[in-house]
Amino acid sequence: MRDLYNGATSPQQLLAALLEPQAPGERLARLNTSVAHAAGASPFYRRWPTLRALDSLEDLASFGFTCKEDLRAEYPYGLLAVAPENLTRYAESTGTTGGVNAGFVTARDWKTNNFCVALAWAGLLGEHDIMAVAVPYELSYVGADIDRVAELLGVSVLAVGTNNKLCPWTRLLALLRSHKVTTLVCAPIRALRLAAMAAEQGIDLQRDLAVRRIVCMGEALSPARKARIERLWGASVYNHYGMTEAMSVALPCPQGQLHLAEQRFVFEVIDPDSAAVLAPGSTGELVLTTLAQEAMPLVRYRSGDLVKTDTSPCACGNPHTRIVHLGRVQDLIGAPARRFHISELDDILLAEPGIEPIYSVQGDASHVAIHLIPAEGGHWHDTRARLTTALERYCGIPVELVPIDRQEWYQRIDNRSKPGTVPAPASPLSTKETMQ
Ligand SMILES: [Zn+2]
Repeated sequence: MRDLYNGATSPQQLLAALLEPQAPGERLARLNTSVAHAAGASPFYRRWPTLRALDSLEDLASFGFTCKEDLRAEYPYGLLAVAPENLTRYAESTGTTGGVNAGFVTARDWKTNNFCVALAWAGLLGEHDIMAVAVPYELSYVGADIDRVAELLGVSVLAVGTNNKLCPWTRLLALLRSHKVTTLVCAPIRALRLAAMAAEQGIDLQRDLAVRRIVCMGEALSPARKARIERLWGASVYNHYGMTEAMSVALPCPQGQLHLAEQRFVFEVIDPDSAAVLAPGSTGELVLTTLAQEAMPLVRYRSGDLVKTDTSPCACGNPHTRIVHLGRVQDLIGAPARRFHISELDDILLAEPGIEPIYSVQGDASHVAIHLIPAEGGHWHDTRARLTTALERYCGIPVELVPIDRQEWYQRIDNRSKPGTVPAPASPLSTKETMQ
């Protein structure tokens, strides 16, 4: 059997290798091996004359960055560092601003990732669980990854995928009930939309369903949103963060925290504007360098995602840094002196009973527009006044609230396959937009 990871040639050895704490010297040796592999075998990195062996992990900052634009320009195989016949899976993702990123893995890359995820998820669920997996399977890693993990953990799977003709969201809701599903895997917006659908059908999520655990992925999950989903479903909510370029990047723990997968990556956090490396515990753009990817090694890859890091010990015992995934860097808006991320508005918007919890925020340096659904039976005039005051106090710039039709908006959400990409209604604002 081929080497799986760090000399491991069996699943048992792989497990031991993944659990083993890595001393800084060992991480540096792995980093240098990975950088040498990239410099020698990846057509893209062969053109980087600066790649060399490093004397310390901090020296990594002497290299340049790899950006999403580089990956798009190299589509599909400009970063392929193995013979094509050694690939085991291929995935791609389409950005909201256009262009396609490719991802590809060898069997070793794939299994190492599967085992890392399984190790984390083993703290959440086990062989008595029935799990509905409502995430993409097509041209994606994530559905297949979770299936492998479920098989390793003895969990039953209902592979429903995302919005498709065979299993629309109404059927998923029926399946959750009829099959006594205990664990739901989906994007946060889907958990909120399913809760609204259940209310429309007179289904009490806590009384009529057995879902006690929701693993959210595919979008940012603010603490306020996590709490809202937990309250609606009467379930524990966990976050899982990954990307097409690198598979799973941060993993949930039983404490409801999200830990960086430091077995497989060296992480940095940078100022998204100046690109300066920030101290541990900062909030900034997540940058990753692969330690264990054969097919597609990455050096200082700018994820485009804003994270808040926390290096204090977690009660679960995992020593890896915790993060809160705040969302995309491009969704930092507001005046230069008072920039904020649109996900921060969840604290105010989700605390407001006069609106539905599904809304769309757009903005730039001088203006914020929020498309939202007024709650049935509420007093929109009062709600608008209250929310506008609270939001403008926080944002420091004018905020416009635009009521939208509930059924029309839900239909738009239901008909999108990929979460987080529902286009907001026409607006004179910039292209910065997200589905919250
Ligand atoms: Zn933890």
